Amino acid sequence: MYITTRGLVLREAKYKESSKMLTVLTETEGKISVAARGVMRRGSKTAPSAQLLAFSEMTLSSGKEVWTLTEARPVELFLGLRDKLSSMALGSYFAELLDLFSDADIPDPLVLSLGLNALYALSREMKPAAQIKAAFELRLLSEVGYAPMTGVCPVCGEDITEPVFWPAAGAVTCRTCDPASGGARLELCKSSHDAMQYILQADPKRLFSFRISEDALKRLAHVVEEYVRVQLEREPSTLAFYRKVAQM
Ligand SMILES: [Zn+2]
Repeated sequence: MYITTRGLVLREAKYKESSKMLTVLTETEGKISVAARGVMRRGSKTAPSAQLLAFSEMTLSSGKEVWTLTEARPVELFLGLRDKLSSMALGSYFAELLDLFSDADIPDPLVLSLGLNALYALSREMKPAAQIKAAFELRLLSEVGYAPMTGVCPVCGEDITEPVFWPAAGAVTCRTCDPASGGARLELCKSSHDAMQYILQADPKRLFSFRISEDALKRLAHVVEEYVRVQLEREPSTLAFYRKVAQM
């Protein structure tokens, strides 16, 4: 059986002499494994589509456990990411999160389109990388069921004026309240708390279009990254690599 779908390559691994095994997030089949035979041979027509972060229209034939790539036409290769190491590193981290938070064989168009929008914004440098990163991370966690509580304090029920974030509880509370979840308490401010609420509710097309000062962005970025770490119970390897190259 053959199908045609569009998909984003989240992971690539060399296999046999000249082939790659890909993890692809597709529009119609969800996350799947795809064998891309001979793509490392010189002159392979499907090679551009068989690289990390390529988004392509793919013709696939189904096998026992994996699909095989038979034809591909690139739709968006995010070339802006490929000539800058820190952007490519951050894009790879986005890919790892998309991989970790999506289920095999279950299509999730919202998650795929969030990933594509984030990579697009990053490749065109539409906003500071830290802003795109925080918005992508928080919205992704929210889309897959980990939206943190914001706005109203879950402990005292009041509107929050002096916000702090508890990653283990997944909640923002007043400075004087404690959700008794254990774990660290992280500083927010009005502006970073407003940004969190914006990211959770924004129209997907306007997700990255918010204004924030450099200081508030630092707090937002730190809080959201900690929240990712708590949800995963570890640090993704691509995040450690991004941090290293971003400091260079
Ligand atoms: Zn409170």
